[in-house]
Amino acid sequence: MPDYDFTGPRLFLDHRLEANAEIEASPAQANYLLNVLRLDEGAGLLLFNGRDGEWRAALRREGRKRLWLVPQGRTRDQTPLPDLHYCFAPLKSARLDYMVQKAVEMGAGLLQPVQMQHGQAPRFNRERAGANAVEAAEQCGILAVPECRDIVKLEPMLAGWDASRTLIFCDERAGAGDALAVLAPLRGAPLALLIGPEGGFAASERTLLLGLPFVRAVSLGPRILRADTAAVAALALVQAAAGDWTGA
Ligand code: SAM
Repeated sequence: MPDYDFTGPRLFLDHRLEANAEIEASPAQANYLLNVLRLDEGAGLLLFNGRDGEWRAALRREGRKRLWLVPQGRTRDQTPLPDLHYCFAPLKSARLDYMVQKAVEMGAGLLQPVQMQHGQAPRFNRERAGANAVEAAEQCGILAVPECRDIVKLEPMLAGWDASRTLIFCDERAGAGDALAVLAPLRGAPLALLIGPEGGFAASERTLLLGLPFVRAVSLGPRILRADTAAVAALALVQAAAGDWTGA
């Protein structure tokens, strides 16, 4: 059960947060707060910036267009993001939006798009993914927004891998296996998760991955899941067996 107030609006911004240091809302933020959420002068909301914890704030209007956010008191101290990297092949637009949002909600601490041979969408719109990550972070109550990196190719990413971080390879060809038995010994360790493209992993990519000492292959069961479904299933499995659902 979350120990914070998740009923009111939360806003991520890139300003320092301190008592009574007013921040002018951007036109987009003002539009969202006044016209979408229909808040008005004096209404309360929560602010976070990834550095100064979470703050209770009130709205102050100036004329018809200007809106100020007035931090009043810290509600939660800053906490780090989970040490879980999510590596994925970009999907096409709406499914990618969904996957990024769900990865953030499920506790990914860093998003790493990866170009693979059977990928459908070799280009990656980092700005759009970042906006989806902010929206998900505001919604799910975390206190920072996971970094969304530029796309990299699979082979160089693996060549430069920090071997102290185990890479959990979601392998659609793995056959039945006990994913929990693979994951449980990794509880609390630095982890990354790799989900392939809709076209699946190429044979050469699979061979490469299976030969690396820091890779553990897992099956997500006997059905082939679409990549966005696999993302949610795999993140739930990792969090429950080895991540922050265990209190690790
Ligand atoms: N076209 C591929 C095929 O028919 O084998 C399926 C690729 S699947 C749509 C996309 C990604 O989701 C896979 O590369 C894998 O990472 C993950 N995935 C889907 N189902 C899985 C399963 N049962 N076990 C492990 N990973 C799975």
